[in-house]
Amino acid sequence: MLKRTLLLSIVLIASLTAAGCRSGALGATGNSISLDQEWQLGDQMAAQVAQQMQLVHDPAALGYLRQMGERIHAATPLATRPFDFEIVNDPAVNAFSIPGGHVYINAGLIAQADKADELAAVVAHEVSHVVARHVIKQVERQQEIGAIASILLGQNQNGLQQLLAQIVAGGAMARFSRADEKEADDLGLQFMTQGGYDPHGMLDMFQKLLSLEKGGDSSVTRFFADHPGTQDRINDISGRIAKMGNNTSGIVDDPAYHSSLKDRVR
Ligand SMILES: [Zn+2]
Repeated sequence: MLKRTLLLSIVLIASLTAAGCRSGALGATGNSISLDQEWQLGDQMAAQVAQQMQLVHDPAALGYLRQMGERIHAATPLATRPFDFEIVNDPAVNAFSIPGGHVYINAGLIAQADKADELAAVVAHEVSHVVARHVIKQVERQQEIGAIASILLGQNQNGLQQLLAQIVAGGAMARFSRADEKEADDLGLQFMTQGGYDPHGMLDMFQKLLSLEKGGDSSVTRFFADHPGTQDRINDISGRIAKMGNNTSGIVDDPAYHSSLKDRVR
């Protein structure tokens, strides 16, 4: 059992660290994790994140982020599944999602989002990684369904713990491919617009992050490590917004974004 647990942990961690590399059919099982199983796994992981990362519990700040998240989530095909939005008390500029609709936004990213539509863009991008099932598909490609099942049955707490320890340490979160990133940007633009936000916020936010990175600001390094592709992505986003024509009105900024959220997590 110990050996199996250890093997599983190594395989799971390896699958996440190697997620940026496409290894073709290697390790592919042909099995698929259902949405119900993904949500069950995600809830177990989120419980660990809550124990291991410093989350912000300010009701006004969380309330604002969740209201924004729900506007965007409601525009997705997974609107009937529960999503959760949390703020991580971390000055690094980053955001991430784990399976099962759990989206985490660092305080450092909120500090860089000067308008509500800029934060909405990042939220929509992370929601889209979940909707497109990018993380769970990476796990699926390289993981035996039986091993996932043992975690789901609560028989592999060690595997779950080790996986989360890697995420908290910042070493193993999925590094998405450029194709995954483009898909999350495309879907994100659509969902944020349908949720009532101005899609230009995505352009503004990514341009800002790129210029910070070019200026040598190390606080954004992690964001680009997790979300590769930069100028190409910005050009794609710009092209898509141009095609939307007049259909781009929506919330740009909102005073409550500053008073309820941004000013409270600095
Ligand atoms: Zn991404």
